[in-house]
Amino acid sequence: MNYSYHCPTKIEMGEGKSKTLPELLGKMGAGASIMLVSDPGIIRAGLISGIKDSLEAGGYRVTVFDKVFPNPRDTDCMLGAEEFRMNRINTVAAIGGGSAMDTAKAIALCGPNGGIPSEYADGKRSYGQTAPLICIPTTAGTGSEVTRSAVITEQSTHRKMTLKHANLRPQLAVLDPELTLSVPPDITAATGVDALVHAIEGYTCRVSNPISQALGASAISKIVKALPLAYQNGENRKARAEMLEGSLLAGLCFGSADVAAVHCLAEALGGLYDTPHGVANAIFLPHVLEYNISGHEEIHGRIARIAGFAAEKDSDEEAAEKLIKGIVELTDQINIPKLKQLPGVKKADFERIVELSMNNNSTSSNVKEILPQDYLQILEKAYSAVPAVLSN
Ligand code: NAD
Repeated sequence: MNYSYHCPTKIEMGEGKSKTLPELLGKMGAGASIMLVSDPGIIRAGLISGIKDSLEAGGYRVTVFDKVFPNPRDTDCMLGAEEFRMNRINTVAAIGGGSAMDTAKAIALCGPNGGIPSEYADGKRSYGQTAPLICIPTTAGTGSEVTRSAVITEQSTHRKMTLKHANLRPQLAVLDPELTLSVPPDITAATGVDALVHAIEGYTCRVSNPISQALGASAISKIVKALPLAYQNGENRKARAEMLEGSLLAGLCFGSADVAAVHCLAEALGGLYDTPHGVANAIFLPHVLEYNISGHEEIHGRIARIAGFAAEKDSDEEAAEKLIKGIVELTDQINIPKLKQLPGVKKADFERIVELSMNNNSTSSNVKEILPQDYLQILEKAYSAVPAVLSN
């Protein structure tokens, strides 16, 4: 046993917590000039105006930066960093999903330190101190509010890059389930499976540890129960709160471990076709599990039992197969599309997707060694849509 677990983020969780942001900022000693980073969908959902008004009433000068798009682009982060410097911002606060939170991380890094995201991701520039950073998630999915990563797309190459450093961990995460009530069903489904994949990959990956596994187990059992309920009825406050907590626990699980092959494929797809991150994760999860299980039945059997998909009496082999079946049933229940149905995806790009996935640092964390031909086979199976264990 040799590991370290680190998460200095202060976590404030509870219904209505986002309304207390001015007090929380006061306790943090944040400066007077705040940049709120968000996206047009969140502004349309009415989630920004109340928070902005309460900050202004508390004496803060607020700049709203809303040039955030799914699979956020480095070019927009650079615009944000420019505004950070022009408006002499002290503190950056993200209100949104992973895209807003990751953009805010890149702005809090590049604003005060200069440089562009790829220089940090490629090790050409060392990570300086970020501006004080607050994350307020409005989706239950990425866990970015407690992770040390920011996933940014390099627009010129379509490469999704992961910036990873302890300085990218927010000082404060404010989790308010009320902010997730307006998430539409398809985004609830995709983001919820993203959280489940974080927990499964964080639990099984080669760099996992007992703390991550305890957090991952708790996340898995919450998410498999709450996700169908939150999908069926977005107003179900209990299910929304369970999902937000599940996503947080999953973020704490993989945040000091890693993700693995599912994420490598999903990030390649997101960079090439702008596929929503959670949709791509959901599509590849059963196929990567099918590849991973052989030789690693015990750990996957354990997850199947945690999820309630298998019984104690099942052998590890039986339980591991039930994990795949349980995941396919769950993703069908919440209407996750198939790879073939996604706009733009074509077999001619598979070699490129394999190359991007192999170049992703998390490939080496996958529980089982994975080679280019294995990725190719997973892609081909996902394209024909049925994992073999289900077609037998
Ligand atoms: P997202 O942030 O891209 O948001 C998806 C859509 O949901 C947007 O159109 C947004 O407007 C809308 N939306 C968000 N909250 C809403 C609400 N409450 N009501 C109505 N609409 C709402 O989606 P995401 O899945 O949260 O984030 C995905 C991004 O996060 C990807 O780029 C992924 O690579 C990244 N990611 C980062 C980490 C990390 O640790 N940094 C981990 C996992 C994923």
